[in-house]
Amino acid sequence: MEKERLDKYLSNQLNISRSEARTSVRRGRVAVGGAVIKDFAFLVNAETDSVELDGKVVPYRRYIYLLLNKPAGVITASNDKSRKTVLDLVPEELRRRNLAPVGRLDKDTTGLLILTDDGDFAHKCISPKNEVEKSYIAELDGDINADIIAAFENGVVLADGYVCKPAKLFDLGENRVRVIITEGKYHQIKRMFGVFSLGVNRLHRESVGALGLPDNMERGECLEVPEMREILQF
Ligand code: URA
Repeated sequence: MEKERLDKYLSNQLNISRSEARTSVRRGRVAVGGAVIKDFAFLVNAETDSVELDGKVVPYRRYIYLLLNKPAGVITASNDKSRKTVLDLVPEELRRRNLAPVGRLDKDTTGLLILTDDGDFAHKCISPKNEVEKSYIAELDGDINADIIAAFENGVVLADGYVCKPAKLFDLGENRVRVIITEGKYHQIKRMFGVFSLGVNRLHRESVGALGLPDNMERGECLEVPEMREILQF
């Protein structure tokens, strides 16, 4: 593990500015391994050193893993000049982290979205090679039938000729279906149903791999899940 400057460590872990971190260090409020350190450029080993501010240990989190219950009307982007993004829903104290959405949900799609600053983990979640199952509930404007279920199983050919990976489709009745895919092309599910002249009125992602949304989670709410790597077995 590479060492990290003390001011950077404090700024990242406590969501304070670098200058606030430096002032705390200069004032003798910070100790590393029990010794007061007044040089903010001091290098700490984040994994093993115990860093304290005013005598209280600053807990170390290398990466942040957030689960968001995405509401409709919010775009999956890190920043946008005029429109509300999923990053606007991240708790204030985590805003200084370099969090980014893992994959993309359309503006009108609701449900489970992961945000993290762990790029390797994000890549593993998205890569079709890893076959992480993404499960959605869709409300359609018509009925499905056995032929459509079989076509999903065999790989739907989209209008542009792209052959989708095999997907699972379950009829839940009243034009509601569960769709499970392992890739995430642009508007993929809407385009898959479009091949059969079916429109998607509502789309909700209920799970990614073994990770689901807790029942009591409101739309727009975020939950930190430190065990996310283990849950997705990466
Ligand atoms: N497929 C879609 O069409 N939209 C989404 O938001 C996700 C999957």
